[in-house]
Amino acid sequence: MENIKILLDESDIPRQWYNLAADLPTPLLPPLGPDGKPVSPDMLAPVFPMNLIEQEVSPERWIDIPDGILNILYRWRPAPLRRAVYLEKHLDTPARIYYKDESQSPPGSHKPNTAVAQAWYNKEFGINKLTTETGAGQWGSALAFACKLLELECKVFMVRISFDQKPFRKIMMQVWGANCIASPSNETNAGRKVLEEMPDTPGSLGIAISEAIEEAVTDSTGKTRYSLGSVLNHVLLHQTIIGLEAKKQLEKIGEKPDIVIGCAGGGSNFAGLSFPFVADKINGAEITIIPVEPTACPTMTRAPFAYDFGDTACTTPLLAMHTLGHAFIPPPIHAGGLRYHGMAPLVCQAIVEGLLEPRAYHQLESYKAAITWARSEGFITAPETSQAIAAVIEEAKKAKEEGKEKVILFNYSGHGLMDLTGYDAYLSGNLTDYELPEEEMQKYLQDLEKLPKAEMRKSGKW
Ligand SMILES: *Cc1c(COP(=O)(O)O)cnc(C)c1O
Repeated sequence: MENIKILLDESDIPRQWYNLAADLPTPLLPPLGPDGKPVSPDMLAPVFPMNLIEQEVSPERWIDIPDGILNILYRWRPAPLRRAVYLEKHLDTPARIYYKDESQSPPGSHKPNTAVAQAWYNKEFGINKLTTETGAGQWGSALAFACKLLELECKVFMVRISFDQKPFRKIMMQVWGANCIASPSNETNAGRKVLEEMPDTPGSLGIAISEAIEEAVTDSTGKTRYSLGSVLNHVLLHQTIIGLEAKKQLEKIGEKPDIVIGCAGGGSNFAGLSFPFVADKINGAEITIIPVEPTACPTMTRAPFAYDFGDTACTTPLLAMHTLGHAFIPPPIHAGGLRYHGMAPLVCQAIVEGLLEPRAYHQLESYKAAITWARSEGFITAPETSQAIAAVIEEAKKAKEEGKEKVILFNYSGHGLMDLTGYDAYLSGNLTDYELPEEEMQKYLQDLEKLPKAEMRKSGKW
């Protein structure tokens, strides 16, 4: 069997990240402050270090990856590109399916690509402690890992219900030396206020974000900052090492993708794989690029493009994005990483341009795909990634019907070895599909009426 594992030498690792903002035909709408005016970089300075703020607003196409970051990424990068020959055989498809394996990082997902970069830039800026929030714990564990390697203190506010019900990633954070506490907590004003009103609340990502930001900006030493695991431009930038590696690996075997697929929660693993190929599409290549989301949280496929807050407590700047409304309470589907109410502004502007073709899948179809995957390829996938696999299987079947040798590339964003309770629920018949009812979506969207409107600007080329 040939070419089922396409590897790069360490010396072939990309030395620059790719910034799609430089090539989008219509520029991103700026983030807005509470006064409705664009936020200036110094307004963000209490929250993020200035070197990352500069990346956030950078118009440069290529940004050098510092050696200090590469030296850490070498532990698991370049990541393998694998060909899913056993799935191809199982489906009897003429399509050739390749996947970038991001599950091999120590925390088990793509998230450390940016966690390491963010910790490194913070350290460089003289920061000695990072705060963040986490839901099921994927992001918290990635940041805990990165902070340990860079000798930064790390404090993670973990949504109460996950803290109690999903202890394994909390333990991972503790193993890497982070302080992981349940949110809402008694340690911040935001947390205490919620606890007074609702002592038994299960918590939410919105509350945890508010606590993490408060803890960062109120530290009297000025040496604490906040870190976010997706959505923002600099986070997507750090993830482009995935697609840049994949491109080199495909070139090595003389392949070009016809279809590129990734699941999208905040948009970072999808963007990381796809943006270098979006650049090819802007330059004339014929590629179908598909971000995939759950029908339970249909941000890209049904929600409007609008200005909205990034958090439930309305403390962040307003971002122009597809959004279900900042008060959106996601149903408890197992793909915990795909339940965010918004989506990365860069991904959304590419959707508005017509460069991407978003798609939504039901939970049961995704688990069915995950089982097919495990029983052919052997790996047990994260529930988030299974959404991408559902799309891959659909495209591979279409290629069979059409008798076409399509080349499909997707991002294998993480393994599912910490998520086995979802598989248990599926296998014992206790999972159901959920499609967000229209009335419920409209209820959440009412909050957007009071906010500034986002203009949909497009070149009309796609
Ligand atoms: C967090 C996570 C996602 C979703 O987040 P993005 O920012 O959209 O990439 C997808 N897959 C895995 C395995 C994750 O941990």
